Amino acid sequence: MKNQALQAVPNIIASDAKNGIKTTCPYCGVGCGVQVLVEDNKFNVKGDQQHPANLGKLCIKGKNLADTIDNSNRLSAPTIDGETVSWDRATNYVAHQFKEIIAEHGPHSVAFYVSGQLLTEDYYVANKLMKGFIGSGNIDTNSRLCMSSAVAAHKRAFGEDIVPMSYTDITQSDLIVLSGSNLAWCHPILYKRIRDEKKRRPALKVVVIDPRVTASNELADLHLPIRAGGDLVLFNGLLNYLAENDDINCAAEGLETALEKARLDLPKLVNIELDAADIEAFYALFVKSKKVVTLFSMGINQSEQGVDQGNAIINCHLASGKIGEVGSGPFSITGQPNAMGGREVGALANTVAGHIEFSDTALIDALAQFWKTDNIATQAGLKAIDLFDAIDEGKIKAIWVMATNPAVSMPDSEKVGRALDKCPLVIVSDCVARNDTIKFADVVLPARGWGEKSGTVTNSERRISRQRAFIAPYTGAKPDWWIVSSVAQKMGFTEQFSYETERDVFLEHAQLSGLDNQGSRAFDISAFSKVSEEQYQNWVPVQWPQPNPKAIVLSDQLMFERGKYFTPTEKAQIIAVNDKLMGEKISGFTLNTGRARDQWHTQTRTGKSALLSNHYPEPMVEMHPEDAFKHQLLDQTLVNIISKDSNLVVRVKHSHSQTLNSLFMPIHWSSANSHQGAVSKLVTANVDPISGQPAFKHAYVDVSACSVNSEAQLVVRQKLPLDICFYQIEQTVKDGYCYHLASQDTPKTLFRRLQALLLEHGEIDESSRQIQAIDDKAMYYRQSYFHGKKLLAGVFVASDKKQLPQGWVSQFYAARENDAQMRGTIAADVVALQDEKIFCQCLKVSVANIKSAIAEDSSSVERVRECTGAGNSCGSCIGDISLMLDHYAKRVG
Ligand code: SF4
Repeated sequence: MKNQALQAVPNIIASDAKNGIKTTCPYCGVGCGVQVLVEDNKFNVKGDQQHPANLGKLCIKGKNLADTIDNSNRLSAPTIDGETVSWDRATNYVAHQFKEIIAEHGPHSVAFYVSGQLLTEDYYVANKLMKGFIGSGNIDTNSRLCMSSAVAAHKRAFGEDIVPMSYTDITQSDLIVLSGSNLAWCHPILYKRIRDEKKRRPALKVVVIDPRVTASNELADLHLPIRAGGDLVLFNGLLNYLAENDDINCAAEGLETALEKARLDLPKLVNIELDAADIEAFYALFVKSKKVVTLFSMGINQSEQGVDQGNAIINCHLASGKIGEVGSGPFSITGQPNAMGGREVGALANTVAGHIEFSDTALIDALAQFWKTDNIATQAGLKAIDLFDAIDEGKIKAIWVMATNPAVSMPDSEKVGRALDKCPLVIVSDCVARNDTIKFADVVLPARGWGEKSGTVTNSERRISRQRAFIAPYTGAKPDWWIVSSVAQKMGFTEQFSYETERDVFLEHAQLSGLDNQGSRAFDISAFSKVSEEQYQNWVPVQWPQPNPKAIVLSDQLMFERGKYFTPTEKAQIIAVNDKLMGEKISGFTLNTGRARDQWHTQTRTGKSALLSNHYPEPMVEMHPEDAFKHQLLDQTLVNIISKDSNLVVRVKHSHSQTLNSLFMPIHWSSANSHQGAVSKLVTANVDPISGQPAFKHAYVDVSACSVNSEAQLVVRQKLPLDICFYQIEQTVKDGYCYHLASQDTPKTLFRRLQALLLEHGEIDESSRQIQAIDDKAMYYRQSYFHGKKLLAGVFVASDKKQLPQGWVSQFYAARENDAQMRGTIAADVVALQDEKIFCQCLKVSVANIKSAIAEDSSSVERVRECTGAGNSCGSCIGDISLMLDHYAKRVG
């Protein structure tokens, strides 16, 4: 048995090499099933062929999950003010502090900020403690940042937060509209379904509505490069078109009023930067197609009019009757693995629990009896932005952050950091020991991570699956539901939080969903109120609703088939909405933020994988070449991005994928891996007035050049502090780290400084052998260090980033086996080295291979795949081949 205190490598508890353990991927809302096998004492993570979400397929992130299972950056015991304490002491302390603060300042002086990474059981207990026993609505989840606008749109249209779709609808439609969704990068397995179906049935049409050219364009029959925020005008135009072209088949209420309002937006169609012919083509396709699925995601939700945009989409489906039948409907795709589970339990501040709303006082009384409490919250709590503002204003005295990193992910993140800094009590429970939020914590509680915890999650299609443990928990780490229950018991709620297992929690959650329900709420899983331990362990993924234990439905469930909705009239509501953004002329740039293909959130998991870190090693701001020319910003140079309250230095990437005056930056960097911090500090906390969701998709910024004298890459075996240069990015590479640096030093001075640093940090010593290529005139300095044959470190310095080996560096420790090869590398043409970067991670096809296939006239994605093999495993890079073809076509053109 391994010494638990020195548990650097996870202990494997899934020893059945044949069947392994079935669980779900911890990343996106597709919710793919995975099977974890143990072979030769190593994990092998495969797609679960029986899971309906993915049928055995995984994207590159899921496929490389095994790479991310380690125990670095873990905490083995709770801490109070940095001092290690027992669990008993920590939970007593938190309970006591909460009680004191509540006694002095009232229940609304405390808050929880939770996460779509929690399991439903964790979420349920946290929500129950805050809303049921502390008596405040002050619990909100980071799903507020992701899809709370879609939630509000569903409630307005359907009377309840219901995603009416299944993934199989996607493959049964005639037209798929991607609106504000780069599905190919953000939900790759769903995109793969579309690719496979389009191959089988070429008549299937795909329309992509996105200001950028993204990897999702690969399958697009029509791309509408809309001005950011223009979707409401576009869909209002569609509603009007449906009416004018006799495609109304509407049982919903409110059509006439909505049409009147929609018509007011028609003059704005010229402001959304689309060709009239393209708009007409989209509208005609929508009318012509019998079955239409509109997939929408963050591009719609993260807007100051995100709820109205969601309703504008839903309106078109309701008006045309393209809903309530297989292959048709509006489909909100969630970002996080258990965003839907959080919505089910009520972890958004404006819902009570189990899809019970604050307006339903009779039901709240019944819930109070069910929970055995006389202190249930009767009003909505603060939504995320208001919650952190209240901390800043001193109204909230204690915040408990669970499994999330608001100091990075919230807009105006520097202000969030300042608020946390002055909050009298900050508690963080997380499965990492360090992140930007933990820096502000008075109490840190080590929680179990993926692979250690057990419970349920719900994906974007309402499908509940089990997450199962397959490794022994890291020493001292506890399940979140246990941590919250322990604090609740010590606050005096012993009986109501006396859960012994996660199943106990799940049974109560299932029972609550059936409380006075009788078909009045779609979210009803009371069929599972009595599942045995064996049934819970052997759970197969099922969609809700499931009200009847004698008739569990295992097949996909169609919603609204009979036209019954959950509004007072039982009819769907078409909501009259109007654009408020497209009238303004913006000066400066619109900054759009989003995800990169191979990273997830703040990289706490994906950042551990050299392979995943190689796709997008540094954060880059993408800018149209014409804008770059106008501002005299050369490709790959550093620029200042300046917002109202902050600024950030980042590398610019010329990209024809951007429209003019718009920028794109990925969200995955923070002060844990970048000296410059997180992009969210540039985003002003403007929110949708209904949902409170921040407008991450259109922050307004200016850009100016940031000149530096030297650029460098430093490759080392051990982590270094992030204060070597004002611009410093840390990238995980195979067996080490690469630091991307820029400085005002001359290249020679920086080279000397980095050499000294390697000595100082013990990466090399005086006896280390060196191979170098130095040219003072050309100002490049390249040096590798060895002990015997072991490669220790590499320093690459130049006056210009383009003279550095860049992407290839991730292969530094693996790619060169002897001195001659290393000498060749040091002295080689760096452009050739850059092209050695791996493009298709699964099959190890390089950028050079793709370029030469294109040069030899492989003019389609299929031809490039045939010639190189790229994309023929997980398929995640197929969209990138399409982008590369597009790039070369534009360059040649
Ligand atoms: Fe995981 Fe999403 Fe990829 Fe599926 S599509 S493997 S859930 S990241």
